[in-house]
Amino acid sequence: MPELPEVEVVRRGLERWVAGRTVAAVEVHHPRAVRRHLEGAEHFVEALTGRTFAAAHRRGKYLWLPLTEPDGAPSGRAMVAHLGMSGQLLVEKRTQPDETHLRARFTFTDGGRELRFVDQRTFGGLAVEECAGGGGAGEDTAERIPQRLAHIAIDPLDPSFDEAGFSAALRRRRTEVKRALLDQTLIGGVGNIYADESLWRAKLHGTRPTDRLTRAQVADLLDGVRSVLGEALAQGGTSFDSLYVDVNGQSGYFSRFLAVYGQVDRPCPRCGTPIVRESFMNRSSYSCPTCQPRPRTGRT
Ligand SMILES: [Zn+2]
Repeated sequence: MPELPEVEVVRRGLERWVAGRTVAAVEVHHPRAVRRHLEGAEHFVEALTGRTFAAAHRRGKYLWLPLTEPDGAPSGRAMVAHLGMSGQLLVEKRTQPDETHLRARFTFTDGGRELRFVDQRTFGGLAVEECAGGGGAGEDTAERIPQRLAHIAIDPLDPSFDEAGFSAALRRRRTEVKRALLDQTLIGGVGNIYADESLWRAKLHGTRPTDRLTRAQVADLLDGVRSVLGEALAQGGTSFDSLYVDVNGQSGYFSRFLAVYGQVDRPCPRCGTPIVRESFMNRSSYSCPTCQPRPRTGRT
């Protein structure tokens, strides 16, 4: 599943290759791709044809592209995209053969490269939605956000991320620290892989109670999250130059610097202890038993 840095790479690609272009035509090849557009595929096509994608924004793993009307006025609506498990947004030459799992195609009035939504497992989707205020302090379209996304916490890759607010909220929660990292209402876009890597950097076991973390531990954790996401983003950034925007689940972008995730029995890069795998929230968690000891006692 694409995680936050990959989705940010896609956002940057859309900003570069799609923003400012006017939609000439839209084809929907599979109804599931627009199932969240409740008025149906035909309405989705009408809502986009002739409109211009003004920009590309992101909140958590959701992308949205605000639309302007043919007269240049903001429409108050945006196309929202979620990549799900396997979704890709590709910017390609019109002569490029269709992908097997092509779900939607956008052509533009400039006659240039088209935007394609390709999704093998169709958990992703596109919709046109109304925007509302309250998304931030910017003076442009960034301050208007689709209402469905407004509850998602701003993530550490967003310039307006509130570090002090996150730290306070984390320590107020009575939960386990990995569970808190995966809670999209607390911190956006941190999935299983980056949670494990961040916890390793902060030398914290995922079951540590959040309300017992010290300020220094929370600061280390946030540093870990930021550095992991930043490095992954830097790795993924290479895909911009290939003239296409690509997200491919477990792509190799960041796999080279994973310290613990998927590294069971391999030596911890810090201390050499074999990495262990445990089950947590029905998924695998990876950690170093020496650097990240389990909390000794339960809550009393
Ligand atoms: Zn270790």
